[in-house]
Amino acid sequence: MCGIFGYLGNKDASEMLLEGLSRLEYRGYDSAGIAIITKDGQLSIRKASGKLKNLINEVDSSPLKGQFGLGHTRWATHGAPTQANAHPHTDCTGEIVVVHNGILENYVPLKEALSTKGHAFSSSTDSEIICHLIEDYISSGKSFDEAVRLAGCDLQGTHGIAAIYEKAPNTVVA
Ligand code: GLU
Repeated sequence: MCGIFGYLGNKDASEMLLEGLSRLEYRGYDSAGIAIITKDGQLSIRKASGKLKNLINEVDSSPLKGQFGLGHTRWATHGAPTQANAHPHTDCTGEIVVVHNGILENYVPLKEALSTKGHAFSSSTDSEIICHLIEDYISSGKSFDEAVRLAGCDLQGTHGIAAIYEKAPNTVVA
């Protein structure tokens, strides 16, 4: 069972997310990742397969500084437990980030419809389609939080979701 941890506040988000994920380790997982919007408004992601220690090493060698972000421990259901399939996932612009807990039963038709519209996918997970659905709603003029809500309405199955967006400072939508 995966874990989701979000942080928005005055402390170092990287430390808070890694501490949050370590508290969720007991749930079981096969890979982990964090995404942070840095102080200069840039989105950065670090992911690692295997134990949380691998992600901590990754962050130690390439630190992230920011005040808000998302963390995820994954229990793979769609796609092997690789770094590429670890969450967080992003859309085509690389500005929207999503973590997902659960299984999307209708991801095949949604992925086909999004591919037809020109979306490109970089993982084999069911979860990645959520980023592209949100991207689609934002490009049709919806606000970030409305786009997350509408994307959620398109999904069948089980879905705990949290999302951040480079263009929506200090906002975590869950
Ligand atoms: N179905 C998603 C995946 O395979 C999420 C799994 C989970 O809940 O960790 O990536």
